[in-house]
Amino acid sequence: MEKVSVIIDGRAFEAVKDQCVLEVAHENGVYIPSLCYNSEVASSGGSCRVCLVEAHQGGRMRLVTACNYPVRKGLEVKTDTPLVHRIRRGVLELLMARVPDSEVIREMAAAEGLSEVRFRLDEGEDDRFNCIACALCTNVCADVVGVYAIAMVNRGAEKKPATPYYKASDVCIGCGACAYACPTGAIAMEEEDGVRRIWGRDFNMVKCGVCGTPYIPEAQVDWIVKTTGKDRSFFDKCPDHR
Ligand code: SF4
Repeated sequence: MEKVSVIIDGRAFEAVKDQCVLEVAHENGVYIPSLCYNSEVASSGGSCRVCLVEAHQGGRMRLVTACNYPVRKGLEVKTDTPLVHRIRRGVLELLMARVPDSEVIREMAAAEGLSEVRFRLDEGEDDRFNCIACALCTNVCADVVGVYAIAMVNRGAEKKPATPYYKASDVCIGCGACAYACPTGAIAMEEEDGVRRIWGRDFNMVKCGVCGTPYIPEAQVDWIVKTTGKDRSFFDKCPDHR
């Protein structure tokens, strides 16, 4: 792996060539806010625009999203300039207009000194819950789980993830990876009496043979057994009791 030196906010750090700026910053304790990026999901990032920073290279400055901008020799990044904060406030204000109840976005906005928003989406468009349409959930389902149970539908402010025709998906395995990955907690997932409900479908959970805790949907076990050849008996016990 080729190493390069990158300057972030005046400090030099060593990084792997082509590593994204966001990861290098976070590894070295430099805070850049982000929502739609997940290092486990190759196709994630570049959507929410919260991580915009100044990238200076070859005598030029560009505003780039830190989560998908590669580190190269001679790059200098500035995360804390008046321009970065102004753009970040604008992005957060638009996100707050879209999902005014999202706590994580409110906190990010408050850190930028922003509490009020000048915009509001029309009444009657409130079925977006806390979704910012970043598509991390659909990317996780497709690229990590390999199931393709959900996709982004509609355009503009109405864009959101959904199952085909908004019907309970036959292929969803109830793993919940989409809900765990969602940066704003927008995907409803409930569990009661050994049944998980997500995307309009109920999934019976397998109980641990030792502690009796329901811990994984039967459909997920079926999927793992089918795609990996793992012995079904492996799931007789939860991770804590294997
Ligand atoms: S719960 Fe369903 S939609 Fe969500 S990641 Fe798992 S398979 Fe995909």
